[in-house]
Amino acid sequence: MLKVEGINVYYGNIQALKGVTLEVNEGEIVTLIGANGAGKSTLLKTLSGLLKPKTGSITYLGKSISGKAAQTIVKAGISHVPEGRRVFANMTVEENLELGAYLRKDAAGIRADLDRVYEIFPRLLERKKQASGTLSGGEQQMLAMGRAIMARPKLLLLDEPSMGLAPLFVKTIFQVIQEINNNGTTILLVEQNANMALSIADRAYVIETGRVVLSGTAKELQASEELKLAYLGGH
Ligand code: ATP
Repeated sequence: MLKVEGINVYYGNIQALKGVTLEVNEGEIVTLIGANGAGKSTLLKTLSGLLKPKTGSITYLGKSISGKAAQTIVKAGISHVPEGRRVFANMTVEENLELGAYLRKDAAGIRADLDRVYEIFPRLLERKKQASGTLSGGEQQMLAMGRAIMARPKLLLLDEPSMGLAPLFVKTIFQVIQEINNNGTTILLVEQNANMALSIADRAYVIETGRVVLSGTAKELQASEELKLAYLGGH
């Protein structure tokens, strides 16, 4: 579904991605694991058109999307939930959710997905008329995910969805990610919480200072001594 081949991405003179190659097959959950500053967010931003690779190629459903505008990429079915939520603070919860569907025209489908988001996150239903800026951090995270679901993406890019959430809620978020995947959305997931990410992923890539250094099935990586020491708390 998505093929990234040898991309090099720079911020000015700083090279953040160095020849990154990876792929995501339809129906998979693929996770990117790596320390702070490894380049994970940079990769997602490049896939969603917020950054342009200097060289290398990105192919999605058989077509090149490298260097395409973010709007074009969203239209093609890729949604990005960035780190740090980014909801529209002055709009209500429901307005934010509706905005997620702004490119869609199927009113009945939009209504059904809105109901589904409220079913997944009852808290958002309770607060649908509330200004989004007054939601708690965890609630804003739910809203950002709900808005992405409303876009009915084929491929969902999730950047640290568990960041700053209470442990109990982290479990819920991972269940939601699995449910979204079961409903037919392919997922590329960036997570600091490597244990949790591997528990729901099919495959994973480990990124260190802008390079892919390890990849395999989630099972293989869970068993990898190298990974255990560096990212899985050493047990
Ligand atoms: P984290 O887990 O801490 O979010 P990450 O793996 O997502 O880390 P990136 O945010 O992709 O890392 O950053 C990769 C590198 O690029 C880092 O060294 C970072 O300092 C650098 N970088 C990111 N954004 C910019 C920017 N706008 N200008 C310059 N350098 C940047």
